[in-house]
Amino acid sequence: MTGPDRIVPLFSSSSGNATLIKSHGTYILVDCGMSCKMMTKALVDSGVYPDDVSAVFLTHRHSDHIAGVPVFSRKYHTPIYGTQATLAVLDGLASEVHEIAENDIIKLENGPEVRAFPTPHDVPGSVCYRIVNPENGTSISVMTDLGRVNDGMRGFASASDVILLESNYDPYMLEHGEYPWPLKKRISGGHGHISNPESADCAEFFIKNGTRRFILGHLSPHNNTPVLARDTFVNSLSDRGFVEGIDYEVRIAKKDGPTEGYTL
Ligand SMILES: [Zn+2]
Ligand SMILES: [Zn+2]
Repeated sequence: MTGPDRIVPLFSSSSGNATLIKSHGTYILVDCGMSCKMMTKALVDSGVYPDDVSAVFLTHRHSDHIAGVPVFSRKYHTPIYGTQATLAVLDGLASEVHEIAENDIIKLENGPEVRAFPTPHDVPGSVCYRIVNPENGTSISVMTDLGRVNDGMRGFASASDVILLESNYDPYMLEHGEYPWPLKKRISGGHGHISNPESADCAEFFIKNGTRRFILGHLSPHNNTPVLARDTFVNSLSDRGFVEGIDYEVRIAKKDGPTEGYTL
């Protein structure tokens, strides 16, 4: 008896990201972007001992995704998976590393299949993940730091049971906020992050292809609010005829600490 699959975002923002996923009875983390101490607390608060995490899959090398890796991996002897460019910045700092290719499919022993797919984010080797339970086909995708969503990425995550989808910024807040122009351009220029309206556009495709459960994540603390992200998503989908609670569910990942995710 392996128990149901589940997803619990532990941290989600430009200050740090980590998502706990249970698939086929195996716990994995996607990213480990907070201190080992905070990661440990968030896991225990979610009912999981850090020792029970079988692997950490890294999306890319930005510190908000890897900051906790050196201490966490050595303390709990957790294998770390990432692309060559991601692992290069962790050289010698993690206890056990496994290099993956940008289009890899990793089959964990007695666990899920983890598929990677490249994203046009602004560091080399950036990927998103789809975690598939080989027994019942249940799948969970984690899609943040997307740059711009292309057809390949849409197809990759299509028909997932749950998608943790980036909804980084409100375009008005970004444009009128205090960030310097080069940073604004970096965020919105196609290799940074996707906005609330882009996230809703993307969700329309996913709903049409069978996804019912969404978690919006990686919200900017400066250029977004949870209310704005949710309202933009729900209103934009409503304009296209999709009703929350009937056609889909959406939750917002908290910046700090575990968010109630979904149990499948
Ligand atoms: Zn990030
Ligand atoms: Zn990033």
